[in-house]
Amino acid sequence: MHDLAFIYKTLYGFHNHLDLSNFNSFVELYSSKNPNYDSAFDMSELTTYQSNPTFIEDQLLKLILELNHIPIKPEYMNLYIYKMSVESISNGKEDGILVDELFVYTIQSFFFTVFSLANDDSNLNFDRCFKNFIVTLDLQGRRKKIGGYDRMAFNEMMCMPLNVLNLACDAYWCALTFIIGHELYHLTHKNEKHSLEDEINADHFGYRILISMIEFQKVNRIPQELQVFSENQYLSPIIFLEYFRLYEEFQMLCNVNAQESSSFSPKLRENLITEAYFEEIPESFNTEEGNDLLNNILDAIDKLEEQLIIKFKNGKLDFIINKY
Ligand SMILES: [Zn+2]
Repeated sequence: MHDLAFIYKTLYGFHNHLDLSNFNSFVELYSSKNPNYDSAFDMSELTTYQSNPTFIEDQLLKLILELNHIPIKPEYMNLYIYKMSVESISNGKEDGILVDELFVYTIQSFFFTVFSLANDDSNLNFDRCFKNFIVTLDLQGRRKKIGGYDRMAFNEMMCMPLNVLNLACDAYWCALTFIIGHELYHLTHKNEKHSLEDEINADHFGYRILISMIEFQKVNRIPQELQVFSENQYLSPIIFLEYFRLYEEFQMLCNVNAQESSSFSPKLRENLITEAYFEEIPESFNTEEGNDLLNNILDAIDKLEEQLIIKFKNGKLDFIINKY
């Protein structure tokens, strides 16, 4: 399975996974701009995706459990429950990891946006990325529904070089591995009460799982179709946490009554990764490329955030926010 298969999900929008027209128009545009990349799109995977939209997540979860010897078999459940959440659930006999479809949709959209901008910060691309960024935050933070703003502009934004597109996809799957790892901690420590300490332990566990998967890939224990765990992805959970942070910031901007998150804030979670969990990374680990990658992404995020605040204060975002 090619990495590019991973972008199918975002391009379809989960609820339209049987409608190929969006994806076909993207492939057409992409191929016209990158004539050598025709073979990058393995269209046969559409059939698999259409019959089972979570086939990648199912394989990923199974592999994480197997390689890390975690003795439970939770089901991965992707439901459209209109909130920003991932939860572990259990009835005593069966376990599940419940992931909101809207949440997945907006995170994927955010990952593609920041990678696209990091690759091309021309005014034209900034404009597309910024609009997609605002619409994504608005869909998640205010409207609570899946949607989009302009399919053509979105497709243009997605026309980044194949290696960048693959990096964005890998980063998403590595961040999801961290998220799944966090929930696996809760499922294997059911007596705990989700205190701040439990949450920190869960993040720590999730991060260890990601690092272990990167180590497994280095010794060829990851099947070819799931080889998303490059060393340079070791900080990808930070991108996901930045999305969380910006989402909260957006809510505070839109609603003066909005509350900041609990003591387990995205910023604290980021700091724990870069300061505490970081200590356990093996000596042999090459951190240089991963640091550069994250810094490029953080620069792109800074540009988006700066504009968000300026435009919001000047009332310049009303046209987007009120339209979708
Ligand atoms: Zn938790």
